[in-house]
Amino acid sequence: MGTSAVAQGTQATALPVSGAAVVAHAAGDLRIEEVPLGAPAPGEAMVEVAYGGICGSDLHYWLHGAAGESILKAPLVLGHEISGTVVAAAADGTGPAAGTPVAVHPATPGPGAGDVRWPADRPNLSPGCTYLGSAARFPHTDGAFARYVNLPARMLRPLPAGLDLRTAALTEPAAVAWHAVARAGDVAGKSVLVIGCGPIGALAVAVLKRAGAARITAVDVHAKPLEIATAVGADHTLQAGDTAAIAAWSWSGCCPPGPSRS
Ligand SMILES: [Zn+2]
Repeated sequence: MGTSAVAQGTQATALPVSGAAVVAHAAGDLRIEEVPLGAPAPGEAMVEVAYGGICGSDLHYWLHGAAGESILKAPLVLGHEISGTVVAAAADGTGPAAGTPVAVHPATPGPGAGDVRWPADRPNLSPGCTYLGSAARFPHTDGAFARYVNLPARMLRPLPAGLDLRTAALTEPAAVAWHAVARAGDVAGKSVLVIGCGPIGALAVAVLKRAGAARITAVDVHAKPLEIATAVGADHTLQAGDTAAIAAWSWSGCCPPGPSRS
């Protein structure tokens, strides 16, 4: 990759001006390319990416050229579940210092649209909200499966001591699971069902366990996700296709009997 000498304070540091990135061009057309890297804006830090979790949306962009209604109209750098180390802190003084290991919050709340309103504590619902590695809007928002990325300092979350970069790549999907469990309310001592045990479901199991759920039952169509669910805290597993096992399953302890229950 190329580098250029830039002055940072009193020190001249060579920052990269390009780097390898994973770019989806169209369905089935995924390339690793050298992409240019501009100088960070005043509020941006440069991060050397260490690890990136591969989300279902990344796979859809690669395999189908679209993730749901988000259709590739131009090449897109994939990746939004990343960890890395700050190479150059934001010049405006915000955010972590160079050398800080970080996880990344990949969303940028939107500017809104006309008189459309959204709850102040839920900026993810704001019209125009963007996400790293997303073709939901055009121009697309490039992601962070790249050697280096310039990111707004507000996206960066310094890692607590003892959390390694590899594990920290799970921060974003774990936050999704954490949020889901938080929305469910107090699960301590309760019996909980998790339907679907891909990465998000498995992380939901782990978060439920930590939150004190007494009995976690995990359901999936495949055996491997159920193995993982068990490893991270599920007490029981059910194969979704095993209707006899599901019919015979005792949900006792799940909920108070309601009108439809005997
Ligand atoms: Zn994701």
